[in-house]
Amino acid sequence: MCVICQLPLTHEAERIIIVKYLDPGSGQAIQSAVPTLLAFISAVLASMLFFFRRFFQFFFKKKVVLICLLIAFLAIIVFVFQKKQTGEVVTNKRVIVLAFDGLDPILLNEGLKKKILPNFQKVKDKGFYSELATTMPPQSPVAWASFTTGEAPAKHGIYDFITRDPKTYQLNLTFSENSQWKATPFWEILSKHNIPTTILFLPNTYPPANLEGKMLSGMGVPDLLGTLGTLTLISTKDYSNEKNFRGKIISIPNNDTIDTHIEGPKYKSLKETKTSTLPIQIKRNTKENALTMQIQDQSVTVGNKKFSDWTPLTFDIDFFTKAHGILKLYVKELSPDIEVYVSPININPEKPLHPISHPNSYAKDISKEYGFYSTLGLPHDTWALNQEIFDEDAFLAQSESIVKDREKIYLAELAKFEKGLFFGYFGMTDSISHMFFRFLKDKDSKYNNTILDTYKKADEIVGQTLNLMKKDDILIILSDHGFKSFDYEINLNTWLLSNGYLVLKGDKSEGKELLEDVDWSKTEAYAIGYNGIYFNLKDRESKGIVQEVERKSLEKEISVKLLALKNPYSNTTVIKKIYAREQLNIPKTDKNAPDLFIGFYQGTRSSWDSAVGAVTKDVVSKRESKWSGDHLFDPSEVPGVLLVSKKVDIKNPGITDIMPTILGLF
Ligand SMILES: [Zn+2]
Repeated sequence: MCVICQLPLTHEAERIIIVKYLDPGSGQAIQSAVPTLLAFISAVLASMLFFFRRFFQFFFKKKVVLICLLIAFLAIIVFVFQKKQTGEVVTNKRVIVLAFDGLDPILLNEGLKKKILPNFQKVKDKGFYSELATTMPPQSPVAWASFTTGEAPAKHGIYDFITRDPKTYQLNLTFSENSQWKATPFWEILSKHNIPTTILFLPNTYPPANLEGKMLSGMGVPDLLGTLGTLTLISTKDYSNEKNFRGKIISIPNNDTIDTHIEGPKYKSLKETKTSTLPIQIKRNTKENALTMQIQDQSVTVGNKKFSDWTPLTFDIDFFTKAHGILKLYVKELSPDIEVYVSPININPEKPLHPISHPNSYAKDISKEYGFYSTLGLPHDTWALNQEIFDEDAFLAQSESIVKDREKIYLAELAKFEKGLFFGYFGMTDSISHMFFRFLKDKDSKYNNTILDTYKKADEIVGQTLNLMKKDDILIILSDHGFKSFDYEINLNTWLLSNGYLVLKGDKSEGKELLEDVDWSKTEAYAIGYNGIYFNLKDRESKGIVQEVERKSLEKEISVKLLALKNPYSNTTVIKKIYAREQLNIPKTDKNAPDLFIGFYQGTRSSWDSAVGAVTKDVVSKRESKWSGDHLFDPSEVPGVLLVSKKVDIKNPGITDIMPTILGLF
């Protein structure tokens, strides 16, 4: 049994079954070493017999030598013949992997039942369909790393969106660490065998890898400021009381012509850190119901509640350095107030400061051929909707344009792709599910069907892919996890505080983000990220107090108490399962893994405050944000999906099984 997913593990034997079912020809590739070996052994034996025959004359007669030579000769013929056959299969093969982040099996089935997903239905009918067990924790960077390496988190070492440094207790985002893969990503293996690969927008691929083929980096690519996406709101309204606003606010006077600016990347000038800026002039044209913005030498006119096209711009950092970006503007309000949303400034794919593709020119070539596109790793601005800068329609309009750009790139590159592994990723199924899950219960809302409409868009992409497929191509469609409603949030740090495992400095009852107020001399455990609790372990944490011998009892004590925790609103328990490191085969030497992994029942997940090390008032509170769907629960609550265009006889596949299977095909 798989301790993570509570499903039987997919064994090696089952993997081979998948390979065979997908392509019976590939079975030959696995066995092709046998005749070579046979030929080699026979040839060695034969020459030894020739050489030493005088010594062995007593034991062997000449006909033995002849038989050996004959076997060797036959084996060489079989080998050459097989090699030729296998070579043909490999060189012409295209395996297409189409990834939809967060595509959920229950919602997919609903769409299939309603007969609105004809292309998914086609693949299911002709080939294979199953739920796909995800990783613990079921977070996108973790699960996609398991897809990429075919290994569990214990082997690839990615455990959460957020990590902590045990020496400094500082937090970091996992995306910046992907260059040090602990397990081998698939492109390294394929590159070694000269098998071409095109990878579009796969998570955890920034900075891009050096591979045999092309890679356009995905989730993890920062904006021009080096963040995961910082929006700017230019506004005549007063936001001075908005302490928790995520993004930049630029206040402007309420005139018809306004000179203002936007902020670019920070840079160091001598000993000072400065922020680069760029002047903007805004003119209100009430008659045309539009704003005209002058940015560098471009004049951009945008109607009320409309988006601009991509606008390129350049920040002069110093005499030698320029930072090139692209952005979109959205007019939130024209009158009586003026409010303009400035998108996170994406890296200009034609002039990136640091590579966002392999080869470096690939991002530029794509832009030249198909136009500008969002290069940001997480391009859907969920914070703009959460903070009501966007209404639902604006969010969907932004999403539509992201998908349109990426679909164009995906289909055109697929059409050009001749052989090898082609991987394309779409994230709208995840982002829209996060933001629109609240409408699934609201039958009267005009957004009640928005998630299924997104599945229809995914279905269209599947249909276009099927149209581009050649006879022997294999299509694998998968998601990294599914989705469930998110109704309550729990602050694990607050729970640790109220149970005496975490202590704050002085007599504080609440603690700031980044573990700032934690008294390490008295703290035994703390929570970071969405599913992890860490012990303040001596010899690992710089101010650790828990001895290694106490680890087991602390593990047990916290687990027993946490499993009994009840949601005061619903009077139900919130945690389905807690996993210790041993259960997930995490080696003792691994200093980055949490000590306990918390598997929540669907409906409740860690709060954002808890994830970044803050201690707030309540342990459990009602979710109030528009971010209303999630997957940070126990993995058994949120399996993903797997569809294959050919028949496969396999039970309970997991996301770690996909890559070994694909490699087997080559
Ligand atoms: Zn997600």
